[in-house]
Order: sequence, then structure tokens, then C-alpha cells
Amino acid sequence: MAKPKKYKALLLDLDDTLIKSNTLYDKALLHVTKSLTKKFNLDEKSFFNSVMDKEMIIQRSFPTVHTRHSRILVFRMALDEVVGKYDLSILPGVEDMYWSYFLDHIEVYDNVKTSLKKLRDLGVKVAIISDGALGLRIKKATAAGLVPYVDQIFASEEVIFEKPFGALFTLALSKLEVEAKDTIMLGNNYKNDIRGAQLVGIRAGMFDPPEDGNPMGQDQQIRVVPDFIINDFSEIIQEMGY
Ligand SMILES: [Mg+2]
Repeated sequence: MAKPKKYKALLLDLDDTLIKSNTLYDKALLHVTKSLTKKFNLDEKSFFNSVMDKEMIIQRSFPTVHTRHSRILVFRMALDEVVGKYDLSILPGVEDMYWSYFLDHIEVYDNVKTSLKKLRDLGVKVAIISDGALGLRIKKATAAGLVPYVDQIFASEEVIFEKPFGALFTLALSKLEVEAKDTIMLGNNYKNDIRGAQLVGIRAGMFDPPEDGNPMGQDQQIRVVPDFIINDFSEIIQEMGY
């Protein structure tokens, strides 16, 4: 039997691929909601509903650009609706409170660090490619202790459009000086991570752990088929051909 191909680079999504973000986003939102509820003497449930509603509006209003992740816009809209008049100078602090909570509670999936160390010791180049602002991507990776385990971090802010647009993938390939055919992408979003990578010729896999997994973004009309699926992060080593 032929030896498996050895891939030279690994591109990784960040949220719900390296760090357990899905439930933490909701917890951070609840944390800030509770604080504002207290400050303005609001009904917690109805204010939280307003916050959730505004979050959905922001996400849908700005598809494909990193503004859709803005939390300051979410809380501004919710406070405008529920409180009306308030001191605007509190808004940046509200957003900081959200991200501080998130960064303080970040958790990395099992076997991520040991697997990345092994791959990099074997000469594989590793980069995080993540949608959003670069500063926050780096803050998240730093809080998770991931920076020493990767060669680079790239953010959609650098190329305007988010995954699945090809620009973030091709930026990473060109900066790492590797070709698409020698690269593997791992993510948790069928449309953004898997199809996005496949469109530029990168082999792409789905990370679907039995606990805390968040496979999402499947297209019901045009089903996305990952090149492989792994349930434990350490399986990536074998997928890379080592
Ligand atoms: Mg993700």
C-alpha cells in the first residue's frame, strides 16, 4: 500500500474547533445582561430577550463582514429599546465586560495543544484562520494559551470578507508559503470552513467531538461533504499523514 501523503500545513478555525465557544457566548451575554439589569433596575428576562433579539438582528444585518460579531451594537440597540436615555460613555465598558468574561472562562478542547506541538515538531506549519477582528482573535488565542502552539493567526478583518470567501484561506497559504494541495483545513462550520477551503483546493475536515461539539452551517440545498470527520482532536495527526 502507498504511504499516506504528508501534508505540510494545517489551517484551523478557532471558535468551536480549538476553544469551546458556543455555550460561553451565551454565558457572557447573560453575565452582561445581569449587570445591566441591576444597574438600570430592569426585568432580567425581558431585557435578556431584547439582547438576544438584537444579537440576531446584528448577525443578519452584516453577513460576511466582521461587524456581525459586534457586541457594542447589540447592547446599544437593547439599551436604546428598553432604557431609552442613558449615559453613552458606559457602552465601550459594556462590550469590554462581555469580552473579559469570555476571555476569563475560555477552555481548549482535549488534546489540542499536544497534537499541535507534535505536528509542529514534525515541521508542519500551523495557522489559525478566524472570522472577526485580528486583535480579538489574538486575545482569544492568548487567553487560551494557544499562541506558542501556532505559527500564525489570520483574521477576516485583514481581507474584508469572512469565510467561506477565499481570501482568508489564500492569505494564509501565501503567508505560510504553502500550496493548497499540501494543506488541510479543520473547522466546525460546513459552509464557512469546509466548503470555503474546498473551493480553493484545500482538503477540509469537520471537528465533531462527542461533548461540547458544535457542527453547524450545513446547507440544506447543496449539502457540504467534508473530506474527513474527526471526533477527537488528536486524530488530526493521522489525517495529516503522520
Ligand atoms: Mg468555528
